[in-house]
Amino acid sequence: MEKDEARTLQSLKAIKIGIYGNIVLALLKIALGILGLSISLIADGIDTIADVVKSIFVYRAVKISSRPPSREYPYGYGRAETIITNIVGMSVIFAGILIFIESAGDFHKSQAIGMLMIVGAVISILGKIALSAYMFKIAKKFNNQALLANAKDYLSDVFASVAVLVGGLLVALTRISYFDPLASIVVSGIIGYMGFEIVKSGIPEIMEKNENSKMIEEIYKIVKDTPYTFHPHKIRIRKLGPYYLVDMHVELPGQISLKKAHEITTYIEKKVKEELKDVREIIIHEEPIGNGKDEW
Ligand SMILES: [Zn+2]
Repeated sequence: MEKDEARTLQSLKAIKIGIYGNIVLALLKIALGILGLSISLIADGIDTIADVVKSIFVYRAVKISSRPPSREYPYGYGRAETIITNIVGMSVIFAGILIFIESAGDFHKSQAIGMLMIVGAVISILGKIALSAYMFKIAKKFNNQALLANAKDYLSDVFASVAVLVGGLLVALTRISYFDPLASIVVSGIIGYMGFEIVKSGIPEIMEKNENSKMIEEIYKIVKDTPYTFHPHKIRIRKLGPYYLVDMHVELPGQISLKKAHEITTYIEKKVKEELKDVREIIIHEEPIGNGKDEW
């Protein structure tokens, strides 16, 4: 499976680049935040450190997901990505709450230096946009949910750094240092919202939501074009990491031999896998014509 291997290798490379890039950005922001006495810049830096930790988890998830199905996990390891997506989302929400509490307690003692906040925020914005764009590209290319969650998380940091930038500008212009913890509270809100979005994005997969009407239509068409087969129904598609598992019912003439019936369904299975590249497995329940007329 060459395609799988390319997916894994490129995804892992993207995550590694993300990790190194974030370490540099985080250290820069925290250093500038300490020098500039800015809680929002430090909060932004801590969030980036959290990203590094999460990226390490995602790295593991991609590695685990790429394992072939085994006796212990006969459906493969694709769900590892879904699990990690949720852990990432929850931890982002948690980081948002922590930063909110920190900033609220900092209102009275803030003495932030606006200029350093601006410098830190601008570096962070440029760095994060570059990392996020790169990761989005790889995630879309390989339909990788965990990587997509990671890319979204990077993007949330861009908004966070924009808040720090605005805060820094206001501090520099007005000399009122309250704008620093205020920016920090905005940062915490953005982080919390992004975490919520990430958790939400993993739910349909866990709940096996029917989100694949286009695929179902294509499967209908394949069955319709297959001789002897009628009334495909109960087509169900579940997503397992990057792959899909399909099961369905079809009606066949009652008098044909089991051998023939098996030939027909094997043909459909082959055809579906050919036309829908991400379908890993398909199971077909056969029944005589008319038997499934009341089923959807
Ligand atoms: Zn049926």
